[in-house]
Amino acid sequence: MDDLRFQCQPGCIQCCDRHGFVYITEADLGRMAAFLGITEAEFEAKYVYRTAHQIRLRKPRASQCHFLKKNDAGRGSCSVHLVKPVQCRTYPFWPELVEYRDVWQHEAKKCPGIGQGPLVQIGKAMEIAEEMRTAYPWSYPAIR
Ligand code: SF4
Repeated sequence: MDDLRFQCQPGCIQCCDRHGFVYITEADLGRMAAFLGITEAEFEAKYVYRTAHQIRLRKPRASQCHFLKKNDAGRGSCSVHLVKPVQCRTYPFWPELVEYRDVWQHEAKKCPGIGQGPLVQIGKAMEIAEEMRTAYPWSYPAIR
């Protein structure tokens, strides 16, 4: 891969609104609870689904995420943007996307920010991708 271009587009919520789960770390949980002014136990009871190896946000019935604020035009924003989970903050610089040119180019069909904005050096992109591996080691077992 060469250097990449990416710039998140104002009002776009396509990645947040896509079917899937938002996995979080213990640090994410603590930051989000503090941001909302509630205890970690309260946050966990209301928003978290935990298994032996994974922690993820519960999904509300009618949307992909409790914290996604969406208007009638299908645009919106993240209400916890300042403290959003690693998975959300590092997108689209995920290992499975930045390590394969064809996958990155295919992802551009789902993310209008890919291919826009300033160049991001591949070294920086890989550094961000490494945050994903560190945060969610169970998700990258074959390459650890
Ligand atoms: S899909 Fe891309 S441009 Fe849209 S909100 Fe997500 S990162 Fe930003």
